[in-house]
Amino acid sequence: MNNEHLQNVISFVSQKGFIWGPEPEIYNGLSGFYTYGPLGKLLKNKVEDTIRKDFVRSEFFEVECPIVLPKKVWEASGHLGGFSDPMVECTKCESRFRIDELIGEKVPELKDKVKAEDYQKVIKKHKIMCPSCNELFKEEITQHSLMLKTTIGMGTEAYCRPETATASYLPFPRYADFFRHKLPFGVFQIGKAFRNEISPRQYLIRLREFTQAEGQLFMNPDEKKSFYKFDLISDNKLPLVPEKNQGKEFKIDEISLKQALSKKYIKSKAYGWTLNLAYDLYVNLGIPKERIRIRQHRKDEMAFYADDAWDIEVNLNSFGWQEMCGVHDRTDYDLVQHEKFSGKKLEVNDNGIKIKPHVLEIAFGTDRPVFALLDIFYEKKEEGQGKSILSLPLEICPIQAAVLPLFRKDNMPETAKLIAENLREEFSIKYDETQSIGKRYLRAAEEAIPFCVTVDYDTLKDKTVTLRDRDSEKQVRFKIDDLNETLKSLFSKTKTFDELEAKTI
Ligand SMILES: [Zn+2]
Repeated sequence: MNNEHLQNVISFVSQKGFIWGPEPEIYNGLSGFYTYGPLGKLLKNKVEDTIRKDFVRSEFFEVECPIVLPKKVWEASGHLGGFSDPMVECTKCESRFRIDELIGEKVPELKDKVKAEDYQKVIKKHKIMCPSCNELFKEEITQHSLMLKTTIGMGTEAYCRPETATASYLPFPRYADFFRHKLPFGVFQIGKAFRNEISPRQYLIRLREFTQAEGQLFMNPDEKKSFYKFDLISDNKLPLVPEKNQGKEFKIDEISLKQALSKKYIKSKAYGWTLNLAYDLYVNLGIPKERIRIRQHRKDEMAFYADDAWDIEVNLNSFGWQEMCGVHDRTDYDLVQHEKFSGKKLEVNDNGIKIKPHVLEIAFGTDRPVFALLDIFYEKKEEGQGKSILSLPLEICPIQAAVLPLFRKDNMPETAKLIAENLREEFSIKYDETQSIGKRYLRAAEEAIPFCVTVDYDTLKDKTVTLRDRDSEKQVRFKIDDLNETLKSLFSKTKTFDELEAKTI
């Protein structure tokens, strides 16, 4: 945990208009709720667009289901009985905490390893105090439900969904018809979910209201071992950390999916394909590969219904390795449960053969990847030590170019505004004319804007502008008429900035 970096990132993103909160700030804020400001929302949209594109390319169809669902749904899914965190309340100041998290912070080697019945013992042995008032905890541990309760109409009990997955399973009979009763088929959903956390203290990593992106692949259980799409990706190498490599140090086994299957790290071809898709999602978001590992769930942390479960973890500057995405073979658990509680048959009927599919799930949120990008690519520099920069990868930058008049006179602003207007047909563009050109370049670098277009005296004479690269600070002169094509080739990566430089006019 690097608290200094975290504080730098938080103050940076709130100053620059990425993320504000906890909201509502003017009423002192409620932890776990945030507003995405203009730049943050653009970035989050880019993240979600990338995810959407990857799912669609992998033959998943997007759906949007209700956020609020009646009590019975959550009884069936098991959330009402079991979805809770161990809580301890301070007898002195009445603050409430998740005891497993407190233990993990105070005694890192016990993180996620203490069984429920041992919490009291650990509190006593390691003298775990209330972080707010330093009182030793004396209270019993209680279970705190994470379900956010609400009422519908005249008082019908209902809950906000704690994940999109359950909502995605409910229209199953409709899917069966839509997909002509042919397995496999996939759906995904990007939308809000809610968890009534006791006291979220990890910024965007733990929120009470957040956005999830979850894909569900419905498979014939007999075809999991022979899934044909596996052969297309079986040579891909993934950074796997199987359970046996999770000793004191975690060791990555960089092996192909084919090998992972033959070593029995993963159980089925269908699961391997799903894991590869989840990994691709994170790589395509621009997270550097050396910061990604895929960790197998230990037997003692695996959900009882899960047949295969691995997490994608990303190495953050502020929090270290953090879970970002879970890939689970949920078997037929959910469909069986909802069949039992709803009394409706949840199976496909493929030419008279009735099949209850298994579900392979990719489960993650979009807030964590947004935070990961900000955390990894923000570099703060003190004054006089160079420029602070948010060096996001090209494909994910919220604003693609800034158009800047050198001075606020001699027709430069008018020319620059016209250029900006034309570029907006294809790119996200910021026009900026306040303060010196040097300050504006620095500001653009902090806003992750990869290219600046500057209008100067020459522009007025020969219709050329300079194009400036954020990372190298190199400049190239261009005809205004060629700007559009030039930016296109840069963003499609058919040309690098250095190649452009060689051909400057
Ligand atoms: Zn206290």
